Amino acid sequence: MSSSYLIALGSNRRHPIYGRPRDVLRAVMEELAALGTVSARAPIIDSAPMGPAQRQFANGAAVLDSEYDPPALLAGLKRMERAFGRRKGRRWGDRVLDLDIVLWSGGEWQSDELTIPHVDFRERDFVLSPAGAIAGDWRDPVSGLSVRQLAARI
Ligand code: AMP
Repeated sequence: MSSSYLIALGSNRRHPIYGRPRDVLRAVMEELAALGTVSARAPIIDSAPMGPAQRQFANGAAVLDSEYDPPALLAGLKRMERAFGRRKGRRWGDRVLDLDIVLWSGGEWQSDELTIPHVDFRERDFVLSPAGAIAGDWRDPVSGLSVRQLAARI
């Protein structure tokens, strides 16, 4: 059975081949097709660096329809982060690629390595703003609010 996932994408480092962060995200949007069908992609935005990160981020969002269950999808996304050269490091450090599962059509998921909805997404404009462009009516099962309503609160 296929599930829908709302995926958040972020980058704030150049990639030696793909180039600028926003070009990295464009390439990732294509690569996501290896994990399912990308049914919507948000326009990429620029956002300010946070915490120890030094450089401006590019952020985006995509809706992915996939046969994978949440742990299998997370494994696929982590493989993609590694393939794009993300190194282990500080949580908020500079990174070529960060991929998060924000929402899932199955509602909530909780395990040691994975929490859906993503724990921080309700406070992050750089997630809600792109997500609102493609999934504004999608409802957060925890708060009961839609992505559009959550974005309007920030
Ligand atoms: P971060 O450095 O913020 O990308 O966090 C990466 C770790 O967060 C991953 O290794 C995941 O195991 C964990 N994680 C927990 N919930 C999620 C989620 N909804 N999407 C992606 N990663 C998650």
